[in-house]
Amino acid sequence: MTILLGFDIGGTKLGIGLGTEKGELLGCSRRDNRNTDPAEVLPWMVSESRRLVGEAGLNMTDVAAFGISAPFPADAARGIMTKPTNNPLWRDVAILDYLKKELAIPGCFENDANCGALAEWFFGAGRNCSDFIYLTLSTGIGGGIISSGRLIRGGKALSAGELGHICIELGGRQCSCGMRGCYEAYCGGVAMAHRMQEEIAGHPDSLLNEICGGDPAKLDMIALEKARRANDPYAVALWEEMSLRHAQAFGIFIQAFNPQKLVLGTLAWAIGDLYTDPIKAKLAEFCWKEPMDACEIVSSELRRDIASYAGIAAALNFLRESGAKI
Ligand SMILES: [Zn+2]
Repeated sequence: MTILLGFDIGGTKLGIGLGTEKGELLGCSRRDNRNTDPAEVLPWMVSESRRLVGEAGLNMTDVAAFGISAPFPADAARGIMTKPTNNPLWRDVAILDYLKKELAIPGCFENDANCGALAEWFFGAGRNCSDFIYLTLSTGIGGGIISSGRLIRGGKALSAGELGHICIELGGRQCSCGMRGCYEAYCGGVAMAHRMQEEIAGHPDSLLNEICGGDPAKLDMIALEKARRANDPYAVALWEEMSLRHAQAFGIFIQAFNPQKLVLGTLAWAIGDLYTDPIKAKLAEFCWKEPMDACEIVSSELRRDIASYAGIAAALNFLRESGAKI
């Protein structure tokens, strides 16, 4: 049995998981991470890890490796959290070196979307696949690519898998990343909310006005789903466009990587067939039949538990890549 420690560093929550290479969780802990100071959080991560390891009847020396799942922007090569968007006090925090020194075990630092892909690969819908793509579909869109049995990180920028920022429309909608026409600008939850807020005044009869109680700031994907299920014409049109944009992006991924599966995160499993069926119906316009037929489009199996497995999966992949016996 291989024991692994995982850290999931989110903008609002920070999780620690202790588990095995088979995905059994031996212990976990969570805390709030809004506006926290790393000077307080880092020592907590160490003491809490020691507590979890001790409560499982183990010593830290029994833990083969740890993995950190962290949001970008970051210096992944050196394991430094440079400028996480939601945590203003976390600037240039060398978290990988700190934990290596304090825990005295090997470890790695990985982009959180890549960790999602690794978690689905080892413990979820990507099991037994050599080629698949995981897409986080929530407030934004992130991706992780497993190709020929390896996580694809790319070259110096380590930015492979930033699938939400593939340009699908020349001079298109403004994206939060600075470019125009990104996939995320058409299908990300925050981008969709902004679009409804901009456009709602032009649709005074839309059910969305009632759903948000006249406050456009309350328009979000949940409101849109409600209006779509009620067949509100504006919501139906927006949903159709979103599905078309998803199909366009999926077509690119399928042509580029010939994956066995596209594994879809949050919005896809929360909404279900209403989300995925219209995308599948449009997919043939954007890729060849053979790779399309060879690609299954499925929802995440780990669903909301994915965060508990993210760091553990990164640690397991780190051991695999370093050729360790697992
Ligand atoms: Zn973008």
